[in-house]
Amino acid sequence: MPKMPDVLEGARVLLENETPLSGNCGRLCGARCCRPMEGENTGMLLFPGEDAYYAALPDYTIAYTPAGLLLTCPGQCRREDRPLSCRLFPLLPLLREGGVRVGIDLRAKPVCPLARQGISGVRREFVEVVRACGRLLEQDDAQKRFLLRLTAQQDDLRALRRQFGGEGHV
Ligand code: SF4
Ligand code: SF4
Repeated sequence: MPKMPDVLEGARVLLENETPLSGNCGRLCGARCCRPMEGENTGMLLFPGEDAYYAALPDYTIAYTPAGLLLTCPGQCRREDRPLSCRLFPLLPLLREGGVRVGIDLRAKPVCPLARQGISGVRREFVEVVRACGRLLEQDDAQKRFLLRLTAQQDDLRALRRQFGGEGHV
């Protein structure tokens, strides 16, 4: 079976037991981020090389999209099977000039009440582990390029939100 890159595996392990709140936030919102949004083709972007892990898991499918490899899950999962995008949600490590900055993933705002609350709504420890995860990933060229793409995508989304008045599903 093909193996995930070590750096990616390390990032996934860092977030294995870290969660945005000390309890299960899915109980508060009905696990909205695990349910597809009506009329939308949803899924989680895989980090470079992460598809190797899912090749052997029959309940997951991978689609090639212009944004990258998109994983679709069965709607519930074992914690160890969670892709890195789900482990990071609703935060993202962004690559800025001064280094890794942790931000709310703007794609999460239509779905996640914590994302709408802002970064102060999640545990400090979770923020710090997401930062450590970004620092680890940026050591690998492919992962760094992917984080730079995500960062640019967030900047585009922010610009769109400003253009259309701040809120809404962008
Ligand atoms: S949508 Fe947000 S609050 Fe709800 S389960 Fe997902 S991360 Fe937690
Ligand atoms: S992989 Fe797990 S955490 Fe991620 S959306 Fe699916 S059920 Fe939710």
